[in-house]
Formats: sequence, structure tokens, C-alpha cells
Amino acid sequence: MCKDIPALFGSLIFSDKVMRSKLPKDMYKALRKTIENGTHLELDVANSVAVAMKEWAVENGATHYTHWFQPMTGFTAEKHDSFISPSGEGEVIMDFSGKELVKGEPDASSFPSGGLRATFEARGYTAWDPTSPAFIKDKTLYIPTAFCSYSGEALDKKTPLLRSMEALSTQAVKVLKLLGNDTVSRVNTTIGPEQEYFLVDKDLYKQRKDLIFCGRTLFGASAPKGQEMEDHYFGVLKPKVSAYMHDLDEELWKVGIPAKTKHNEVAPAQHELAPVFDTANVAVDHNQLTMEIMKKVADKHNMVCLLHEKPFEGINGSGKHNNWSLITNDGVNLLNPGSTPAQNIQFLVFLMAVIKAVDEYADLMRIAAAGAGNDHRLGGNEAPPAIVSIFLGDELTAVLESIEKDEYFGKHENVQLDTGAHVLPHFVKDNTDRNRTSPFAFTGNKFEFRMMGSSASVANPNLVLNTAVAEALEQFYDELKDTKPEDMEKAVHELLKKAILSHKKVIFNGNGYSEEWVEEAKKRGLYNLVSTPDCLPQFIAPKNVELFTKHHILTKEEIYSRYEILLENYVKTIIIEAKTMVEMLTKDFLPSVSAYAGEISKNAASTKAFLPDADLSAEETLVKTLAGAYSALTEGTAQLKDAVEKASSMEDMLEAAQFCRSELLGKMEALRLTANQAEELIPDSMLPYPTYDQLLFS
Ligand code: ADP
Ligand code: MG
Repeated sequence: MCKDIPALFGSLIFSDKVMRSKLPKDMYKALRKTIENGTHLELDVANSVAVAMKEWAVENGATHYTHWFQPMTGFTAEKHDSFISPSGEGEVIMDFSGKELVKGEPDASSFPSGGLRATFEARGYTAWDPTSPAFIKDKTLYIPTAFCSYSGEALDKKTPLLRSMEALSTQAVKVLKLLGNDTVSRVNTTIGPEQEYFLVDKDLYKQRKDLIFCGRTLFGASAPKGQEMEDHYFGVLKPKVSAYMHDLDEELWKVGIPAKTKHNEVAPAQHELAPVFDTANVAVDHNQLTMEIMKKVADKHNMVCLLHEKPFEGINGSGKHNNWSLITNDGVNLLNPGSTPAQNIQFLVFLMAVIKAVDEYADLMRIAAAGAGNDHRLGGNEAPPAIVSIFLGDELTAVLESIEKDEYFGKHENVQLDTGAHVLPHFVKDNTDRNRTSPFAFTGNKFEFRMMGSSASVANPNLVLNTAVAEALEQFYDELKDTKPEDMEKAVHELLKKAILSHKKVIFNGNGYSEEWVEEAKKRGLYNLVSTPDCLPQFIAPKNVELFTKHHILTKEEIYSRYEILLENYVKTIIIEAKTMVEMLTKDFLPSVSAYAGEISKNAASTKAFLPDADLSAEETLVKTLAGAYSALTEGTAQLKDAVEKASSMEDMLEAAQFCRSELLGKMEALRLTANQAEELIPDSMLPYPTYDQLLFS
């Protein structure tokens, strides 16, 4: 265990401190300017940074470097080059140029492009993102980069995220200026993603093809004990898990990830990790890296970290909470209600912009959380429903009501507004976080989007939120821009009132898991896009194409390509699951069923020979049941196989996705139930793979 945590923290990142000590002063200043304001980086600066970076990396044991990027696969990608460069007479030096730092040219042909890139043009470009610090992992210098096609189209998740941060900053600064705030020149989004995960024993994992190929169990009779006792949540950590978490923290701290909170979750073998928040771009990179390091450290501890959204049927799945707020370059959190009237107005305008954004683009928020894995969670009893609504809490809801009814300048019974001073009540943070069923909850000084699946990149929800809020702010700006300063307060009041009337339908403080809410949401005209194939077509809806193109986040071609990729990922995932199920049934499970039935029959036959009058009705029933399961599973497997073939041959991806959802998943569910019933009858020693008992309670 490391003793000097402050020295350990960030010891493997090319931090500001390292930059300052290693770079000439003018070069350091130029780089800071690029990082803070996004200005263009000159080649001489890049060269200087490259030299410093290489020197530092080599000092810290690195021999290679890689441009690290986030293609549309859901994973990160890297291609390693060594620093070695021949210097004549069979000798080498360690070399790294500004050009190599700034730009890479990986072969892009094996990454999904959704038809964006013509096949003859395989080149892709990676471009250094100086706003996210480089780090060392496995003796390699990792340089965070954006990934584009030859003609500049985004092929990754970082590029549009960076674009959305720019768009939001531009609109937010405009609005702040209008409200009389002249000190702000940049607004950033801050993100704190809370990450859930499962740990299982590596030896057990290796015996289950479904975990290996799909990340989730496709069968498994429930253990006698599940999560009903709720004794795991915040419970005492097992020594093995505790050792893992300590090790994990240290690995994360080394690369500058401020892992802060860790605890057991509701389900057995489930845990959570939360970092201290950071700017969106850095936090997104950190979350990707966290997921990688979680898996790596688990392996070292003879465990496997499962990031799938629903590894076990009947047990809570894993999600990711995306905490989101806005911070000015002078350090003010714009979603903090504050204690002065000026801050209050600012707060209310930005709060309203978020409400408007989420109401108008709820479908895009839903898409940001979509995926085959998360479909098993959304709408289930541990996860928010697929309906996107906002929880504000009683106090804030009362404030908005009073504005709507023109009582803002007066007193409200729940809200202590000083007449004339219109100071917002001081929110007690705990008061705002009582509702765990809301997909989008205001939690005191930030919003928490709770729909995300545990394995997803948080780039998507943030790029949607940033863009939608940028659009809302721009509309507010346009409405207010011709107002004289002395009339501003009144104009803002009118603007807020109008916005509340149009968008209060998205606010819901009740129980999001209830049936009544589904009915009520329908009446209110909110989207309820239950599954991935239900929501994805909204990606290319005209209003959404308009939003992304207007703010230069994604071109129409980029949107269509992403839509195709998402559909394709969904279809591929379900086909792999179905094929795995077919294989497990045919090669592993059915032989077990038949072997056990055979053994019972054989034993019964010898009993009969020995004791001709013995009552063998129980054996007979058991063998009949097993034989019934055997034939049902055989028949179902054949049907599933046919359905897989049909799905694989479909050209239209939306049609294929809908078919996968209705046909493949339906058949798989039926097979799961039958297999689980049979599993309950067969002794553990004759089962082909470890059971839920063993996986969850070992
Ligand atoms: P809770 O337990 O109520 O969900 P926490 O204070 O534990 O809230 O924070 C949860 C996550 O939210 C942490 O990752 C934290 O860093 C993050 N967070 C806190 N403040 C902000 C903020 N202003 N912007 C973004 N994320 C934030
Ligand atoms: Mg939380």
C-alpha cells in the first residue's frame, strides 16, 4: 500500500506541473492558451511539447507512444509506435516530433464508419487533444486524440463532444453577458460519472461461454438468496474485494483519475465507484480509462469485472449516473442557486434552459442511453423508466410555479422569498435527492442523468445535453437581446414564465417506476421509447438533424452514419447472444439433461430389478419432465437458429433490429425459462457450468 498518495496522484500524467518545469516559458504559455481557449497550436510549440513529453515519458519508463482514441465500437483504440529512431552505425536514439504528437494516420478500415468512408479510402486521422492530459500506461505514452476520416468526418465520440462543448460555451457566454455578467469568457460542462460494476471469480467466469462472449448470463436459475435482504448495499467489503478496490484506486490515481467514493451496491457482488467531477472531455476520457483499468486490475486479482448492464436475470443491473453541471472560467457553478438576486436570475435562466432542452430533446437523451444491454434495465424495477422526465424537488417546483403565476415577487408558502429582493431559498442539498426513480434529477447544484448503462461511453449523453442546452440558450438570447438593461429583469421574468408553461410537462416529482406515471406521461405527450429499435429512428428525425447541423456538432452524413452504426451494433450483439445460446444448449446443456435423465432411468431400472414392487412414480415424473424439457429446448434451439439466419440476411438494419427484438429476444427468453426450470432439477455436479449461487456468492 502506497503511503504518499499526494505524490502518487497524477504521477503518470503529463501534468501542468510537468509542463511548466519542462517547457520554455513562451512555449508553456502558448500551450496553456490552446488548452484554455482552444486556439490553434503552432508547429514550433508542438515540437517543443513533443520533446518535453518524450523526455518525461522516457524518464518514467516509457518506450512507446500511442494515439489513443474512441471509435464507434464502444471501446478505445490504440496503435503503438516505439520512440526508437536509427541514428546511423546501428545505434538508436529516442525520438518524437511535434508532427507525430499532433497527428497520426491509423488504418481506419476496420472501425465502424456507417458507410461514411468509401472502402478505397482506408486512411483515418487522429488529432491530438491538448485539453486532455497525456498519460503513461504499460510503458507507453498515451496521447488522447480525436479520430476523423480522410475528409474530416468524425469517426469517434470525442470530436462531436468537443464541438458541443464549444457550442455550449459560445451560447452561455452570450447569455451571461446579456444578464450583465462581463467577467466570463468561457463556460465548461463538468461531469462526474458514478460507475457500477460486478466482480466474479475468474475460474467460474471461464466456464461460462455466455459471460465470455456476451458479458451476461443467458441462463441461470435464481440462487435461493438474491438481493431481497438488501444486506449488500453499503455493506462491509469482503477482504478480496477490498484489496481489489485499494489496488484499483492506486492505479487510477497514478493516471490522475480522482477516484473518490467506493461502496457495495444493492445486488450481491455489485459495487460502485465515483470520481470527483472534471470538465466533460477529461471526465469522458477518464471514464473510458477507468473501465479499462477496472478490468485489468480485476484480472490481477483473479476476478473478472463485468460492465454489462444486466449480467444476471432477477438481480439489479449496472448503470452509470452522469452528473452534469456548468462552470464558468471564474469558477462559478451556474446550476448553484447562489445567494444573491443576480446569481438567482442567472441560475433560473440556466435551469430553465436545461428544462427546455431536456423536454424538447428527450428522444435524443433516450438514444444516448440506448443499447442492447441497457434495454434489459430500462423499465425494470431498479432502473428509471424509458420515459425521460425531470425531478426538481418540491422547493424548486414551487419557485417555478410562483414565477408562472406571477407570484415571483411576492411570498410563497413553501418558499421564503424576501419581497422585492427575490432571493431564492437556500437549497439544502439533501432535500433535492430523495427521488431515486427519476431519470433526470436536480441534485442541489447539478443534474444527474440516471439512465445510462454501465458499459456506455458518457460522451453521448453529454454531447446531446450540451447541444440541446446551447440551442435553448440561443433561443433565450434571441428573445432577450434587444432588451434595455433596466427592463431586463422583467423581460427575463416573462421569458421564464413562457418557458415554464411550455415545458413544465417534463417535470415529474412522483414515482417514476409506477404504472400511473406511464399513463400520465402518455397524457402529457412525453416520449416513451421502450427499446433501442423504438428510439433510434428519432436520431434522424428532422428536428434532431436540424439541431446537430445548426450547431455544427454533426453533419447530416455523420448523423446517418451513427444511426446505422447504432442499429448494426444492436443487431450484431443480439445475434452473438442468440448464437451463444444455441451453442450452449446444443453442446453443453442438452447433453446434461439427457445424461441426468439417463442416470435416473438406469437407477430406476436396477431398483425395479431389485425391488419389483418399489414405487418409482417420482422417478418416472422426473424423467418425463426432463424429457419434456429436452424436446422443448431442442425444438426451440432449432427455431432460434433459423431466426438467427433470417436476421443475418436482412439488408435493412432497422428491420433487422426490430426482428431481433421481437423474434430473437422473444425466443431466447422462452428458452431461458425452460432451461432454468430444468436446471433446478439437475444436481450441480452434473451441470455444465457454474450456477448463480456460485457466481454471486463465492
Ligand atoms: P450524490 O451522492 O448525491 O449522487 P455526490 O456529491 O456524491 O452526489 O456526487 C456524485 C457525483 O457527482 C460525483 O462524481 C461528484 O464528483 C459529481 N459532482 C458533484 N458536483 C458536480 C458538478 N458541479 N458537476 C458535475 N458533477 C458533479
Ligand atoms: Mg448519485
